[in-house]
Amino acid sequence: MSDRDGFIWYDGKLVPWRDATTHVLTHSLHYGLSVFEGVRAYHTDIGTAIFKLHEHTKRLFNSAHIYQMPIPYDRETIIEAQCEVVRRNQLRSCYIRPIVFYGSEKMGVSPRGAQVHVAIAAWPWGAYLGEEALKQGIRVKISSYARQHVNVTMPRAKVASTYANSIIANAEALDHGYDEAILLDTDGFVAEGSGENIFIVKDGALCEPEIASALTGITRSTIHTLASDLGIPLHTKRLTRDDLYIADEAFFTGTAAEVTPIREVDRRVIGSGSRGPVTEKLQKAFFDVVNGRNPKYLSWLTKV
Ligand code: PMP
Repeated sequence: MSDRDGFIWYDGKLVPWRDATTHVLTHSLHYGLSVFEGVRAYHTDIGTAIFKLHEHTKRLFNSAHIYQMPIPYDRETIIEAQCEVVRRNQLRSCYIRPIVFYGSEKMGVSPRGAQVHVAIAAWPWGAYLGEEALKQGIRVKISSYARQHVNVTMPRAKVASTYANSIIANAEALDHGYDEAILLDTDGFVAEGSGENIFIVKDGALCEPEIASALTGITRSTIHTLASDLGIPLHTKRLTRDDLYIADEAFFTGTAAEVTPIREVDRRVIGSGSRGPVTEKLQKAFFDVVNGRNPKYLSWLTKV
């Protein structure tokens, strides 16, 4: 990832991609406290546009606030910087990664005295779980690792340390021949994927887990709106692993994963074993919105 052409926004300036480096004694590298976002820009009918840029930027600032990291820029600057990165790299569609981290001024658990840095990179990134996955769905495994308790890593923050938990769960799933993991919370109820929220469909209604120990996904909230437009009822409740086994359909949502159907959980085939009709409807509605084909939601797109 580090050896390519292009520009990265780094502490207020665009720097050549290969020069956007940091010291090995960077505090965040050692103690795992950085907050970040995953954002997507799409090549839409109105030109390249970033989907829900304001919501992502707000969540970035909320994450930093939760972890008491003072971002030395205002929100408008970070919004404009993300647009600038897409423009300067001449990207038509891409993934955008803003990250806020502590520098190398000091060691020790307390970051006080370390500088808060902000970097924003963008690069082309196709379907996170593969193009085929969007049509055929993926196979997932309930992880033997629990999602961290709400008082361990605070789930309203998109914080790097959560992803150690995600990485180990995802690795276990891959080792067992699955495509992705689902983590249960510490009470044993369904929380989320390693980098996705989850929905199921049962008897024509959409159902999602209570969001206690999962990230409040921006794609998830898009699905709420689209389900309401399509007249699909939505229930939010505690879901058990066997609720997933007997679901008619299931799918993941996320900026990277977009809307990815789940066709199998722990070797139990879900519904017909491929993308279900409700999932397909919501997936189509989602891609219409992000690609600027639904005039009702053009305000969710920020032209770069
Ligand atoms: N949960 C986790 C752990 C994630 O990393 C992500 C991706 N950001 C999501 C859920 C989905 O969030 P969003 O739809 O905002 O990308």
